[in-house]
Amino acid sequence: MSEDASLLWAEVAVFSALEKTLHYLVPEELAPLTAVGARVLVPLGRRQSTGLVLHVSSDPPPIPKDVKARFIHSLLDPSPVVPRELIELCRWISSYYFYPLGEVLQASLPSGLTNPPEPFFRLLSSHHVHGLSGVSRELLDSIGRKRGAGFKALQRQFPSLKNLRTHLNRLEAEGFIERVHVHEDSLPAPKILKSVRLLRRPENIPSRSKNLLQLLEFLEGQEGGSLVSDLRRSVSNADYWIRKLKDEGCLEMVTREVPRETCETDCSQALCQEKDLELTGEQAEALNLLLPAMDSGEFKPFVLFGVTGSGKTEVYLRLAEHALKAGRSVLLLVPEIALSTQLEALFQKRFGARLAVWHSGLPSSTRYHMWQEIHQGKRRVVLGVRSAVFMPLKNPGLIIVDEEHDSAYKQEDRLRYNARDVALMRASSLKIPIVLGSATPSLQTFLHGTSGNYGAVQLRERVLERPLPRMETVDMRRERGRQRILSHHLQKALVETVEAGEQALLFLNRRGFATFLLCNACGNVVQCSGCSVSMTYHQQAARLLCHYCGEKRPLPEKCSQCGAAPLLPFGFGTERVEEELRQILPHTATVRMDRDTVTHPGQIARLLNRMRSQEAQILIGTQMVAKGHDFPHITLVGVVNADTSLQLADFRAGETTVQLLIQVAGRAGRGTKPGRVILQTYNPAHYTMEAVRSMDYGNFCHTELESRQRLQYPPYTRLLKLLVTSHKEKATEEGAYRLAALCREMAHRFRGENRHVAVLGPSPAPLAKLKNRYRWHIFLKAWTSRDLQTFTQAVLEESGRDPVLRRVQLSTDRDPLVSL
Ligand code: ADP
Ligand code: ZN
Repeated sequence: MSEDASLLWAEVAVFSALEKTLHYLVPEELAPLTAVGARVLVPLGRRQSTGLVLHVSSDPPPIPKDVKARFIHSLLDPSPVVPRELIELCRWISSYYFYPLGEVLQASLPSGLTNPPEPFFRLLSSHHVHGLSGVSRELLDSIGRKRGAGFKALQRQFPSLKNLRTHLNRLEAEGFIERVHVHEDSLPAPKILKSVRLLRRPENIPSRSKNLLQLLEFLEGQEGGSLVSDLRRSVSNADYWIRKLKDEGCLEMVTREVPRETCETDCSQALCQEKDLELTGEQAEALNLLLPAMDSGEFKPFVLFGVTGSGKTEVYLRLAEHALKAGRSVLLLVPEIALSTQLEALFQKRFGARLAVWHSGLPSSTRYHMWQEIHQGKRRVVLGVRSAVFMPLKNPGLIIVDEEHDSAYKQEDRLRYNARDVALMRASSLKIPIVLGSATPSLQTFLHGTSGNYGAVQLRERVLERPLPRMETVDMRRERGRQRILSHHLQKALVETVEAGEQALLFLNRRGFATFLLCNACGNVVQCSGCSVSMTYHQQAARLLCHYCGEKRPLPEKCSQCGAAPLLPFGFGTERVEEELRQILPHTATVRMDRDTVTHPGQIARLLNRMRSQEAQILIGTQMVAKGHDFPHITLVGVVNADTSLQLADFRAGETTVQLLIQVAGRAGRGTKPGRVILQTYNPAHYTMEAVRSMDYGNFCHTELESRQRLQYPPYTRLLKLLVTSHKEKATEEGAYRLAALCREMAHRFRGENRHVAVLGPSPAPLAKLKNRYRWHIFLKAWTSRDLQTFTQAVLEESGRDPVLRRVQLSTDRDPLVSL
């Protein structure tokens, strides 16, 4: 093949599951325009595919001689759309998490950018059309009249035309039209929000119309009106009743046009904050440390360790204001948006149109525009969930990760990245500070904070000298009979709280639900002899398994510790708690909130508003209610089952339990009245319960870190999980054993070079079958990140050549958080 030596080569990442990037020749006429970060259309096999230019050079790439070089088909952007900085970040992610670069890029960009563009046709010539068929002439006519037309528009215009594509291809080949590629970037239409407001109750309500009653109940709680979409989701036949009530003059319809990207949930009742709070001494001190870092032009991570209610949000707001003043932009990551409507409202108030809110519920057209506006620097404060870590901020000056310990930052399928760690990497290459905030930092962050790797800022006191809540423990082993769910003590406290006109939160710890066996007499849980984690109950196989080393044990007949009762699977739901509550407080309004009752953000806001307006006195919920909320009238928090998540087969069980419980406890006493927390536990003497009781998280971290060091767990070592899956049970098991053998051989070779990697397993995953795929896993443990990197790379390469392993799918989970 004869290539002109002066031709340029482009390295392109195609947006698909290709392991490697590809190299293409740049056509001469495109050479001046082809730049890193621009999208291109390239031939791939017999198709065409979109991709991103990663590198342009006149040096021929290392491709085999017999592979025919192909040309880029067309350029989709006149100038780069993806900043170089983000491309580099994706390269790092691809290598660190062992995931194809094209797919990383695809995951990081809005689909509006990665989807294949729609072909668009322009008229070149309308001479000599007399030889054409009637249809072709109509097509030309239509394209000419509109100065061009998209494929979809033509399809709509000629709905009965079967072979539109062939017609267009022919017209193109004969030189009548040309094909260009554009993106649909028409502005998204403003969204119309329809809501209804109850004017009066209808006079006669048919006794059988349950739906109507439900609708009325719903509407009566909402003076500002309710979204029709919410009503439709919550009440069956809503449309019918709305129409009927409207005809009777009982309802008023309100329509409101809102720009797509604003908060659709009802933030109206979220707390309104006075302007210019006077900073507390600790807040001022924190800012004195953090603000100069922003001006230093250096990478510097900080841990902002502030107890619940210490006013971290105000610190974030001031930091963001400072960055804006300096012409920089700010990224604030939060674990969940649905739950932080409060935070959203506060930021909206301070930053108005400069704020972009990014979450998974946005329609793709909104995402695309938001992305563009952030890229152009129109929006300089980005408040978003996990995937916002990829936003193309203009001149970023600061990244904040709120509740940095939260597991929501970890994506648990496909590309298993942790947004907190990616944010650290991004801040490091941008040379800017990053603030990791939490009342309960992850042990890893805590260690960096105390060892001096990270700057440490502490907020030890709650604002306005509000005390931390008083902690009380109930030993559930002593409760008899009916008080198995709500102890006497908690019942009494609930009644007192309600009678005093205050509010309560009942928290149900549902993680690790029924996956372990608990002795109801002594609280004992069976542990693995070699791993110091509890063993998992597998109902189907009727045995206990250790998910780290694979040790198996038959179900014990009786408790090994006290020899008494048989061990039983443990757990119950929020519904049951609500039922119990109704027996002691039949006239008290409650709100129940968990993953089963809450299915969309609007609903959360509505349920929370019922608490905020004090229409309801008791909130019952799972993990969802633990985080971030600021309800000033909650004075009592009851933790129904404190220990459940302790029993997860995970070395992090202690850490996550303490974090969760301290966060829940932190919901109490945030207003003017002091709070009180009642912990119901079967293990009152357990060190984690001690830690929660004393609310001394720092002290807990020191103890826990010592044990991690002794057992050589992270943060002292690095873990990686290799997951083997397939549709065939036998093949999966064989694959897992083959892979483990391969890992052990490799580890042996490594040891010869004085590098150490431990191989644990294989064992079936706790979720042994998921969506019809069987799952086994192996854990790799190394003492440095670099050893883990080279080791895994070598294993993955070798496994590609193994016939047994080619029949299964292999995936990696680096720095895994859970062992499911
Ligand atoms: P955290 O996130 O640390 O748990 P928040 O940021 O939610 O705490 O703050 C708790 C409450 O304290 C909020 O209602 C907030 O408005 C209030 N607050 C924050 N800073 C101050 C201050 N300097 N003076 C008075 N109230 C404050
Ligand atoms: Zn074990």
